[in-house]
Amino acid sequence: METRTIQVTEEKKALRGSLAETIEGFFLKHRDRFWKVHVVVLLLMVVLIGVPAFMPLPDEEASLFDDFSLFANFIIWGVWFPLLFLSVIFAGRLWCGVFCPQGAASEYASKKGFALAPPRWLRRDWIAIVSFVAVTIFGQVVGVRDYPLATLEVLGGTTLVAVLVGYIYGGGRRVWCRYLCPMGPLLGVLSRLGAVSFERAAGSAKGYPCPTFVNTATKTSSANCIECFRCVNPEERGTLRVRLRRLGREVEEIERREPNLWEVLFLFSATGLALGAFYWQISPLYIRLKHALGDIFMDLGLLHVVGSSGPRWLMVNYPEAGEVFLWLDVMAITIFMVTSMVAVALALSVFTALASLIDRRGLSVKDGFLRFGYVYGPVALLSLVIGLGQILFQTTTALGVTQQVVKSLEMAFFAAGGLWSVYLAYRLAKGNMLTMVPLSLGTVLVAALWYGVLF
Ligand code: SF4
Ligand code: SF4
Repeated sequence: METRTIQVTEEKKALRGSLAETIEGFFLKHRDRFWKVHVVVLLLMVVLIGVPAFMPLPDEEASLFDDFSLFANFIIWGVWFPLLFLSVIFAGRLWCGVFCPQGAASEYASKKGFALAPPRWLRRDWIAIVSFVAVTIFGQVVGVRDYPLATLEVLGGTTLVAVLVGYIYGGGRRVWCRYLCPMGPLLGVLSRLGAVSFERAAGSAKGYPCPTFVNTATKTSSANCIECFRCVNPEERGTLRVRLRRLGREVEEIERREPNLWEVLFLFSATGLALGAFYWQISPLYIRLKHALGDIFMDLGLLHVVGSSGPRWLMVNYPEAGEVFLWLDVMAITIFMVTSMVAVALALSVFTALASLIDRRGLSVKDGFLRFGYVYGPVALLSLVIGLGQILFQTTTALGVTQQVVKSLEMAFFAAGGLWSVYLAYRLAKGNMLTMVPLSLGTVLVAALWYGVLF
């Protein structure tokens, strides 16, 4: 029986190895053409993001089948965004290395620009959290998912900043991608769950210049690897190779995979912020917060200030669509989202700290965070994919798929995320049930909060 199990495992390894070689061979053969892919995706983005911004808003009768603006919105927010996050599970950060025009434009600019070394403040790990929080809240306030002008402002604006950063810093490297892109840290932390990694070949120690400043001679983490294939040169000693692995494997081995406290804190915060972005639109708590703020400003005699609206580039202001935000809305949304972020991050911190203290191996709280913090990745990721994929799911019902099928599919995804997190907790707790309890409770908390939004 044991011999048979070993044989099956060896067969699986061999199959994975040959599949990895085929994938690697394909990308190596075409890596000189990646720039063409970047140009094509850039042109697509220009059409999908640029054109609708100069079209009138669609009327209520319009559908994505007869209105380009709604069609573009569906492709960007209903297909591209959810699939981008889902793709991390199967392909890691392939989007970043092969498709993303923003990162490529930033790198191109950095080859032509001042080539300054990024200053120390910019290389702080928390900068990425600030960037993510700022862009996410700003996106909510300007209605990035609902209004083409806001989509252009956020996606086009970040691209311009990426190019500017590239022009000033880097000298051919991607300072924007490594330290500033709001998407980068989320894709990075989730890529640790993915099936693809770029691993050092046994015994190698050669360093290749990496666009995202990864030390390829010592690399053990997937987080900052954008899968550009530049360090993959099988004919050379010291090359990195593409490897396929079991989902979640890197997190299971996180102790020797360069765990990073800021990544964990980012995961906790991003989970809370994403929940806040969905909840403010449906929660009675948000309405109460807004009224309470209104009362405070009325007492201060400032209601006329916060009761006015601002320009479209700063907040939703579309009277023709019946939606106009006031400064009061902007403040309430910001406070609500930041509170949600802090509350969820604190709750997950408490559960993680408890697991560290309970664990019999005598971990410090910091070591506990580094070991157990990544456990919540799957439940957060798959719930986010369902949340972002609502437009896609709604469209499939319009195409004739029954509501019941869609809900079952969503539920299956949702359950998979929760169970995967619990499984990771089991693996990392090394079967210690007591350690698993707080980690599972943290998972249940995240799942319960997402359940309230999704179902
Ligand atoms: S880090 Fe951001 S800008 Fe860079 S390639 Fe990835 S998504 Fe694009
Ligand atoms: S580690 Fe290699 S594949 Fe990954 S980003 Fe750096 S050079 Fe590219």
